[in-house]
Amino acid sequence: MNYDYDLYVIGAGSGGVRASRMSAAQGARVAVAESTYLGGTCVNVGCVPKKLFVYGSHFAQDFEDAQGYGWSGMNARFDWPTLRDNKTTEIERLNGIYETMLNNAGVDIHLGKAVLVDAHTVAIDGVQYTADKILIATGGWPTVPDFPGKEHVITSNEAFYLPVFPRRMVVVGGGYIAVEFAGIFQGLGAQVDLLYRGPLFLRGFDLSVRQFVAQELKNSDINLRFDTNVKSVEQTTNGLKVNLADGASIDTDLVLYATGRHPNTKDIGLENAGVALNENGAIKVDDYYQTSTPNIFAIGDVTDRIQLTPVAIAEGMCIANNLFTSKPKRKIDYSNIATAVFCQPNIGTVGLTEEEARATYADVDIYQSEFRPMKHTLSGRNERTMMKLIVNKADDAVVGIHMVGPDAGEIIQGLSVAVTAGATKAQFDATIGIHPTAAEEFVTMREPRS
Ligand code: FAD
Ligand code: NDP
Repeated sequence: MNYDYDLYVIGAGSGGVRASRMSAAQGARVAVAESTYLGGTCVNVGCVPKKLFVYGSHFAQDFEDAQGYGWSGMNARFDWPTLRDNKTTEIERLNGIYETMLNNAGVDIHLGKAVLVDAHTVAIDGVQYTADKILIATGGWPTVPDFPGKEHVITSNEAFYLPVFPRRMVVVGGGYIAVEFAGIFQGLGAQVDLLYRGPLFLRGFDLSVRQFVAQELKNSDINLRFDTNVKSVEQTTNGLKVNLADGASIDTDLVLYATGRHPNTKDIGLENAGVALNENGAIKVDDYYQTSTPNIFAIGDVTDRIQLTPVAIAEGMCIANNLFTSKPKRKIDYSNIATAVFCQPNIGTVGLTEEEARATYADVDIYQSEFRPMKHTLSGRNERTMMKLIVNKADDAVVGIHMVGPDAGEIIQGLSVAVTAGATKAQFDATIGIHPTAAEEFVTMREPRS
């Protein structure tokens, strides 16, 4: 059969772009469809603008901290439209780079919403294309539960483009986006209430990390309200009123829901091609990203495994390798994937939590350290850093590393190589530190915690 393309990719986000470019580099004839923005969530309404906002929000602390170092006269004033619009200009530059990268790789770009017509045919704006293989990389979208007044709340998508900066804000949720955005808006000057439905947020992270971050966010004046559920949200004459299940209410200017994201699987014709979903509504794939229809593959957030850009990219690399080279088929080892939460201070983590390690191994040693970062001896800021190493006693392997503190993501990225390589605690001990750094603590912790 003569198809228009060897590979048709639906979605030009982190995973789709990488799979397209790498497949084309192997000589495959590739097209990619994009309905909204080149670069997908990460570039447009995710990692990149979020990190720019995190940088922007930290200046308030930096200006305060500078005074202990002898600087004065900083009557700094924050202007939201400047940050928002500079960010948008940078995102538009990146959109252009993505377009150029795809063009240079010889990938055809089809702008519009793609729908599967059958297992080998995709329709986009009434035009049909055939392909030997199809890759679904349509990502995810924020989920907001149903409640009266749902229409008054925003999600992270809208937070990047607010016409007016809020004086007061309520953030609902207790995951990555909730804690990151609470920190961003608090740092930029809003008074933030963070509402989480359970007793302690960041479920799935190491318990000491969760407790430590809760303390740090409280110190930074974010109003943490755990075991708190929203009943309804109503418009008032001067903003919004959030009515809570316990009868209390909060007057605010903006309500941001960060209650998870669901895979983009609706109205893309999956049923026309026999592509099955799992119980969570995500596309079901095997270890090699093959769906229930053998010539159709899926990667990234639409498969709802680990919703991180480097994971989607790595899966895209596997697709190009497995479909268009004669090299051995590759799959991803999902253990030991390092991650950072860009709350302030940051969380960086790789490997098992203490709770997981205790459930996995007979005996573990925990090395834990909390200290005031050197910078704050002069700034006077009441911010602490926490570091934790988890060691399997049976073979001395370091099986988990966790940090809360400045640049935790940068530090843990380096240490994740050691964990992936199976480094032992003895090898950490044999490593000479870099002084004076915070990270040297990871090679100088000698006494296990009781
Ligand atoms: P996406 O990047 O979402 O791309 C999917 C693309 O498909 C989109 O462009 C969409 O428009 C398009 N599409 C959908 N349906 C169709 C259709 N029918 N036809 C054509 N096109 C279609 N991850 C990190 O690793 N680090 C971070 O710091 C980080 N921060 C984040 C912050 C926020 C606020 C959010 C929301 C996410 C963040 N993430 C972060 C997660 C990361 O953005 C995602 O895991 C990643 O983008 C997933 O890539 P993907 O290729 O699966 O999907
Ligand atoms: P998460 O899954 O991280 O967190 C969702 C939060 O919302 C949880 O605290 C959850 O509570 C809560 N929740 C879920 N449903 C409800 C509900 N009906 N009512 C009240 N609370 C609810 O999702 P996010 O939206 O924060 O982020 C989506 C994903 O994007 C992340 O998981 C991450 O993979 C990725 N991301 C990565 C970032 C990074 O790498 N730095 C940054 C931002 C996003 P509970 O725990 O009780 O279920």
